Parts: sequence; C-alpha cells; structure tokens
Amino acid sequence: MNAPAALPLRTLQHLVDASVISPDSVSGLAAVSARYAISISPEVLSTIKATGTDGPVARQYVPSVAELVSWPEEQADPIGDSAHSPIKGIVHRYPDRVLLMPTQVCAVYCRFCFRREAVGPAHGGLSDAELDAALNYIRHTPAVWEVILTGGDPLILSARRLATILTVLDEIPHVATIRIHSRIPVATPERIDDALIATLNAAHKPVNVAVHCNHAAELTPAAKTAIKRLRKAGVMLFGQTVLLRGVNDDPDTLEHLFRSMVAAGIKPYYLHQLDRAPGTGHFAVPIERGQEIVKALRGKLSGLAQPTYILDIPGGAGKVPVGPNYLSNQNGAMMIEDPRGAIHRL
Ligand SMILES: *Cc1c(COP(=O)(O)O)cnc(C)c1O
Ligand code: SF4
Repeated sequence: MNAPAALPLRTLQHLVDASVISPDSVSGLAAVSARYAISISPEVLSTIKATGTDGPVARQYVPSVAELVSWPEEQADPIGDSAHSPIKGIVHRYPDRVLLMPTQVCAVYCRFCFRREAVGPAHGGLSDAELDAALNYIRHTPAVWEVILTGGDPLILSARRLATILTVLDEIPHVATIRIHSRIPVATPERIDDALIATLNAAHKPVNVAVHCNHAAELTPAAKTAIKRLRKAGVMLFGQTVLLRGVNDDPDTLEHLFRSMVAAGIKPYYLHQLDRAPGTGHFAVPIERGQEIVKALRGKLSGLAQPTYILDIPGGAGKVPVGPNYLSNQNGAMMIEDPRGAIHRL
C-alpha cells in the first residue's frame, strides 16, 4: 500500500506504508523518531525508490538505529551557534555576515543535520515581534554586509513572509547581498512556484541561493527545472555538499555530483566535513580520506566544478579550508606536488 503521493512521510508508519522501512524495524526506531524529526517528501521518496532503500539518497533521510549511538566529542550545538547569538534568530560569528533563522522547519529532515537538536516542527520559528527584533539588530549593526537566511529551511516560508524579510533587507543600506541556504530546490522543487519566483525577482539586491545537495541522483528533472527557474529570476546558485560515508565518499561519486551541479547551473561552493552532531557518527569520513578524495579530483575535473573542502572547527572557532596541501619545505627548498603526484622544486 502506498502513502498518498502528494504528502510527505512524517511517521514510522508512513515509512512502513511506503515500503521504505520494514514493519519489524518500527519498535527499534521509536526512540529515534521520538528524538529527531522525520520528513521525506514525495520527490525524495521517488528518488529513494529509484536508488534503493539502502542507497545513497535513502541513507540521508531514512531514520536508522545508528542515530542512537553517541560518538566521541559529539555536541548538541557542534559549531557553537548559541555562543554567537546576540538575539533570538541571529547568529553573528564573522564580522561582515550574519545568519538569520526565521524558521526551524524543513521540507525534509536529514539524518546527519548539524542542527538536528534545534530543527523540526516542534521548534517552530520566530514570531512577528521576534523577526522584527532580529531585523532591527541587522539594521543597527553597520558591519553586516551579507545576510544569510538559514534555519530550518527559509524557502519553506510563505512567499508573503519571505517578501517581508527581503523588503526590509533591501531597505538597509549597509546590507549589500542576501544569501538563502536551502534544500528545497532538490527536496520539494514544486515549492519553487510563481509566487516564490516573483518574490525573489522583486528583490533589488543580489539574492544567492546555496543549494544543499549530496548526490547526483537528487538532481531530478523536477529539481533541474526548479533550479532553472531560479536562475532565470536572476538568482546565483551555489552548491553545498556534506561529505558522508556511504553516500558520496568516493571520487567518482563526487565527480559525478559536481559535474551534474555545474551542468544544472550550480557552482559547487563548499564540501563540508561532517559536524559532530549527536548520533551522526555512522556518516563520518576521516579528514585524511576527504583530502585523498579531493586530491583525486584535482587535475581531472574542471576548476568550476571544484568546491572548497571546509571544516567548521568544533566549538565555534570558525570555518577553515582543510583540502590537501601541495607545498612542502625540504631543507629550506620549497617543493610543490603537481596533480599527478610528481614533486617539483620551486
Ligand atoms: C557558515 C557560517 C557563515 C557563512 O560562512 P561562509 O564562509 O561565508 O559561507 C556565516 N555565519 C555563520 C555563523 C556560519 O556558521
Ligand atoms: S534541510 Fe538543512 S537544516 Fe533541514 S534537516 Fe536538512 S541539513 Fe538540517
């Protein structure tokens, strides 16, 4: 029996009905579903059907008992968002840019999410008064050059509420540019509708959308259509990928993903080392392996298709690149490794 096609799967029973999990696994997963939100959209469900219920898309969304396992140095707030929050809904860690989180709701819930303790329907979002106060913080902080809408997924907001936010940001002189981090273009592409496009089109300042996508199979025909609509509305698209064990932790899979992104009109921006959120250890790839993978792509793949491999230092010290190093110093001489592994003296 199939769940209704137009509704997301939000409970273990929905997942059983859609044949995504077996009935016997429900009791083991009850504690997972009590702690972390579940949502699998119809678009993602069809991709899971096409790639297998233990495939690279299923692993990202289908709850697993492995989420009940703690891993070393895991933290509920792995990158220290709360320490840098001057007011509800704002995280201000770097001088020139702030995160604005109008909602904690997402269209889908990723099992490796670093904000998994803070996202979900139970967490809601900012009230009108709280949103006003957060926008006031931006208005009165002249160093803020860029506002990054994140959450939660900002594109889950109604076009009207998003328009309210964009209109205020348009009117603040020191805000030069707006960025929106979202999974919606790939997870629920039907939400990139006329009302949303009109809202984005109406913004005077450049709007950049960072699309979160971890496997080429997520770039379905509907996702590509949504991405094309965003591009036509003047939005610049950047790709954000998390390096995940069993999903994309080999050079061929990432090469295919990054080529598919560029072909769809998305510039791969960051390849993230996994943050140490609770119950995500089964997705971890060691940094040394990440560097090997990234190295294998250098020289082989267009520079346009190469993101920066990035680590958000646990505890909130900030993001830094952790890609392979090609330079070394041998007895005072600078040596450089080429993309094929040969060493040259500089
Ligand atoms: C990741 C992050 C940003 C954005 O960083 P970029 O390197 O510009 O993509 C901004 N603020 C906070 C608090 C962040 O965690
Ligand atoms: S869409 Fe983003 S914020 Fe929402 S669960 Fe996935 S990774 Fe977390």
